[in-house]
Amino acid sequence: MKTNQTDFECVVVGAGVVGLSVARSIAKRNKQVLVIEKNKRFGEETSSRNSGVIHAGIYYPKNSLKATFCKKGNSEIYSYAKKRGINFNKCGKLIIANSSYEEKILSQIKTNAQKNGIILKYKNKTHLKKIEPNLNCFSALYSETSGIIDSHDLMANFIFDIEDKKGELVFQSKVSNVKIEKKKIKFCINNDNNYYSTKVLINCSGLESHLLAQNIKQLKKSSIPKIIFVKGSYMKLSGKSPFKKLIYPVPTKNGLGIHSTLNLDGQTIFGPDDEVVKEINYNVFDEKRLKFFNSIKKFWPEISLDKITCDYSGIRTKVKKNDFIIQDHSDHQIKGLINLFGIDSPGLTSSIPVGEFVADKYIDIFNDL
Ligand SMILES: Cc1cc2nc3c(=O)[nH]c(=O)nc-3n(C[C@H](O)[C@H](O)[C@H](O)COP(=O)(O)OP(=O)(O)OC[C@H]3O[C@@H](n4cnc5c(N)ncnc54)[C@H](O)[C@@H]3O)c2cc1C
Repeated sequence: MKTNQTDFECVVVGAGVVGLSVARSIAKRNKQVLVIEKNKRFGEETSSRNSGVIHAGIYYPKNSLKATFCKKGNSEIYSYAKKRGINFNKCGKLIIANSSYEEKILSQIKTNAQKNGIILKYKNKTHLKKIEPNLNCFSALYSETSGIIDSHDLMANFIFDIEDKKGELVFQSKVSNVKIEKKKIKFCINNDNNYYSTKVLINCSGLESHLLAQNIKQLKKSSIPKIIFVKGSYMKLSGKSPFKKLIYPVPTKNGLGIHSTLNLDGQTIFGPDDEVVKEINYNVFDEKRLKFFNSIKKFWPEISLDKITCDYSGIRTKVKKNDFIIQDHSDHQIKGLINLFGIDSPGLTSSIPVGEFVADKYIDIFNDL
């Protein structure tokens, strides 16, 4: 590891959007922090393999961490982006129904959103023809606070904030062999046998959070949730974008349905689908094109198969209760260890308030050690 120091106050494992936001919030409180990342660069896993959507917080159960952090994160991410000149587009999102059965689901979504303090506007077919003439549907709900953001630039700004407060980042360094000792947590890098130590270790390792946790002998196995990987593949559209807003069908069991999003260059991207997988493989397979075509055709009948090509994919880390899990010693009795599990969507939108929440936990632990 490229640092001469061997003893730290706080180590954050993982330089994805969540780990970086946590480290930024700790650095903002004038505390020493080191981010350790196994890859060559920041944000190379899930944080750059998503839809880049700033969600409103519509679907999650009231008072869940997802509902609370998403709603707060939505407004905070827009103000941070404005202040820092990060590219975003608050373009709005339509959740569409294509049958009377789906219209009933829209009504449930509207009620749920209302419980979370989010007002969705009902749009009928005539109105929709004016705002999105290429869209085929019975009716829709409109969320005006949904949008898209340049997540790479968001992470780059978090790093600027960390370094500005003398926090550090190291790359190509995989944290392993974690051992809990009295008032210290020891760990190795890249499985060598040189031990480093930290007062607090914050596990933000995304798809590998449960693996890092399993690596800690003193952590009870019952504290580590069972993780399911749900892969989402994307296809891109060649040619002009048919829509100005984000278009979402009603959600599926493991995702939000194959939707139409825009990137900041104005290009249309379709996806992600949802497929339970056992391992991390980001390849996108051509056989999926037909499935995407059939799904998109329902809301955009003019689509032709030759206009969609395979793009990227990302993998969601899902826990049974489908909410974020943030554990400290009150959950697992190890003072100095904070684990984050199941940080799937809306983790990008929620990154700023999650960072603040974990930093507050850190300060409590720090003051007590
Ligand atoms: C298909 C898909 C679409 C999504 N769409 C959206 C969306 O539109 N809006 C939204 O708000 N959210 C969305 N999300 C969710 C969002 O992308 C994630 O919640 C967020 O990126 C998680 O960030 P993270 O930092 O926890 O994880 P990651 O970005 O995966 O970062 C974890 C980091 O830890 C590193 N690491 C792992 N193990 C170790 C180790 N032992 N030592 C050192 N480093 C390690 C990894 O290399 C990685 O860089 C989507 C997710 C998916 C999969």
